[in-house]
Amino acid sequence: MQQVKKVVIAGGGTAGWVTAAALSKQLANLVDVTLVESEEIGTVGVGEATIPPMLVFHKLLGIDEQAFMRATHATFKLGISFEGWGDIGERYIHPFGTTGKGSFLADFQHYWLHGKTLGIDYAIDDYCYELQAAEAGRFARSDSSSISYAYHLDAGRYAKFLREFSEQHGARRIEGRIARVEQDPDSQHIRALVLASGQRVEGDLFIDCSGFRGLLIEQTLQTGYENWQHWLPCDSAVVVQTESADTLPPYTRAMAHDSGWQWRIPLQHRVGNGLVYSSAHLDDDSARERLMTNLETAPLTEPRLIRYQTGRRKQFWNKNCIAMGLSSGFVEPLESTSIYLFMNAVVRLLKLFPFNGMQSAQVDEYNRQSIVELEKIRDFIILHYHLTRRDDSAFWRYCRTMAIPDSLAQRMALFHECGQCFQSSDELFRLESWVHVMLGQGLMPQGYNQLVAAVPEAQLRQHLQGIRQTIGQVVGKLPPHQEFIRRYCQAEKN
Ligand SMILES: Cc1cc2nc3c(=O)[nH]c(=O)nc-3n(C[C@H](O)[C@H](O)[C@H](O)COP(=O)(O)OP(=O)(O)OC[C@H]3O[C@@H](n4cnc5c(N)ncnc54)[C@H](O)[C@@H]3O)c2cc1C
Repeated sequence: MQQVKKVVIAGGGTAGWVTAAALSKQLANLVDVTLVESEEIGTVGVGEATIPPMLVFHKLLGIDEQAFMRATHATFKLGISFEGWGDIGERYIHPFGTTGKGSFLADFQHYWLHGKTLGIDYAIDDYCYELQAAEAGRFARSDSSSISYAYHLDAGRYAKFLREFSEQHGARRIEGRIARVEQDPDSQHIRALVLASGQRVEGDLFIDCSGFRGLLIEQTLQTGYENWQHWLPCDSAVVVQTESADTLPPYTRAMAHDSGWQWRIPLQHRVGNGLVYSSAHLDDDSARERLMTNLETAPLTEPRLIRYQTGRRKQFWNKNCIAMGLSSGFVEPLESTSIYLFMNAVVRLLKLFPFNGMQSAQVDEYNRQSIVELEKIRDFIILHYHLTRRDDSAFWRYCRTMAIPDSLAQRMALFHECGQCFQSSDELFRLESWVHVMLGQGLMPQGYNQLVAAVPEAQLRQHLQGIRQTIGQVVGKLPPHQEFIRRYCQAEKN
């Protein structure tokens, strides 16, 4: 087996530079890291909403938050506002952070549900600090605060920021179009990328970050793709950037329409917008028009169409090639999971790095972990589409009545019957996320764990009131999001 001394990354979008940053920083003198990208081809140019584990990844790399936020024109994100998903006119926030305080034997929703039977009829939203701060448009962080947050960032600037970081840590960048991929005739392992200029870039391990085209993992190794379109029927997006708005909400907006949904992502100097839709239910011209007539501020760019197919590669690691980012598959932008997935994939790779060459047990374990993680995320996303009462279009009727994975059906039934929800150790979305989305989209449990009724009523009232009061007081002291950004990480307008 050939030892891994040279890692070659094909592609310099967010996935490519995230991978280069982590490998160059963590494997310093152990391997050489080279990235090949083509400015002529460019990147997908979206991917601007993130989730809290990004902070952990940045910590691993030693990235300074203020410098990163200034460089990427970033804002803070406390959750996602889902508008029109359960039904037209309804709205809820899926927040980051914890909600209420449960006990070892019963999670918070059981106390909340019991409280409702006693007339303590406050929304579950009132028990979540991040959600209340989001609604109030307020934000602050400090080293001692426990607020859970993520970022909205400019994808192009983020790739540049990480490129600088990676080059400082020894990664080498080669500009050029990959014209051909050379394989070993016996093992079929990849040996080199051959550029249009004729330059050969040899390596021991290749990371495919070439985007949807999957230049190495699919076009070369023909790994195969598992299509999830029957569960996640949206396959297109029109995207446009607009001028910044007067207010800067610390959350992403996901506004459902009759054939998909529209996002609004507030950055410091502009807003990212996109209309996601199923091309079987809405044609491209109508999608473009719908997006352009539903913008808050004036467009800064021409609308751009992106086509995709939801699903995943049959293997993420095949021979001496690992797919990261869009080349590995795509669930949906709805819960901003894509950047997280490749950040976690790089960490997984570092833990299972094939210093001594490709060993099948290691490769299998990497693939197993990646598949389990992605399928749990997939179920959570399908939940948003399936759990709806919308009946206003063929799209929503399809989503409402489609067959769903057994794993998801079981979770929904459990919550509906007895308010129970669970989270396994290898799962990204926490119990609270499932609870907020299921309640937000109208699935009210018929029962709860009666064990909580053992708590004396006065004590329960005091407990619930205490949480609400504390949150109210703390949120009241937070500055407006915009003001905190100005003080903490204001970017130069350029
Ligand atoms: C509509 C939409 C919305 C999204 N929103 C979010 C979001 O809010 N949050 C989130 O986390 N994720 C989101 N994503 C996903 C996110 O955009 C991607 O995961 C992320 O940008 C990484 O993309 P990538 O680097 O894999 O691919 P790309 O950005 O496409 O980069 C591919 C790279 O490969 C290079 N390349 C390709 N072919 C060649 C060649 N022949 N020679 C040389 N170089 C080549 C290109 O030049 C480029 O550098 C969204 C995706 C879509 C489609």
